[in-house]
Amino acid sequence: MLFDTHVHLNARQFLEDREETIQRAFDAGVTYMTVVGFDHETIPLAIEIAEAYETIYAAVGRHPVDAIDMTDKELDWIEELAKHPKVVAIGEMGLDYHWDKSPKDVQKDVFRKQIRLAKKLKMPIIIHNREATEDIIQILKEENAKEIGGIMHCYSDSVKYVDDCLDMNFYISLGGPVTFKNAPLPKEVAQYVPLDRLLIETDAPYLAPHPNRGKRNEPAYVKLVAEKIAELRNMSYEDISEITTKNAFRFFGIE
Ligand SMILES: [Zn+2]
Repeated sequence: MLFDTHVHLNARQFLEDREETIQRAFDAGVTYMTVVGFDHETIPLAIEIAEAYETIYAAVGRHPVDAIDMTDKELDWIEELAKHPKVVAIGEMGLDYHWDKSPKDVQKDVFRKQIRLAKKLKMPIIIHNREATEDIIQILKEENAKEIGGIMHCYSDSVKYVDDCLDMNFYISLGGPVTFKNAPLPKEVAQYVPLDRLLIETDAPYLAPHPNRGKRNEPAYVKLVAEKIAELRNMSYEDISEITTKNAFRFFGIE
């Protein structure tokens, strides 16, 4: 039994075959999933999908790439939707310095607002980080995100920052890149993170694991991530599956 903690079944790439994709995940033993909303269209759709399946949950937030499109009205709207019983986290949120659609100061402002909202609602957060690790850690510390904890989604930096994340009650989630042949960093992280803070994800439709790299990713492939981590930690696939699923239940507050 596996838990894909970060999947975008609400993305347009799954418009044609969402139900079949979910069935393939179930057939592969991926019983649980959290569908992550990232903008005005995908947030309500994440909840709609979660309503349709007992073991699928939703997260609601504004992605940093589009931070510039976030209004105060939308923040209030996210607050209302976050009260839905299947919504288990606020996000994804964070900083993305790879794309320049939203200026850094706007991204930081929208990031802080969403952390404050999550603290108000007493809900954990899901962090998107691209080329912005130090600023993210600084903001999380300044905003005392430790109170609510969170996930560093698709963690891609070196082990150097892992302790900072652990100190703030964060979990480290690994995805497809841990299986890539030319990617030493996530493999080191997979071996370093304490077992009780480790999560797995696909980030589908993006970042498909080897040998599907470059193709559309889907939640069934989270199995490849679990297999790779088991190999790297010299553990059984069954143990990694059980531990990461239990961690996800604890993190999202699922009974
Ligand atoms: Zn994502």
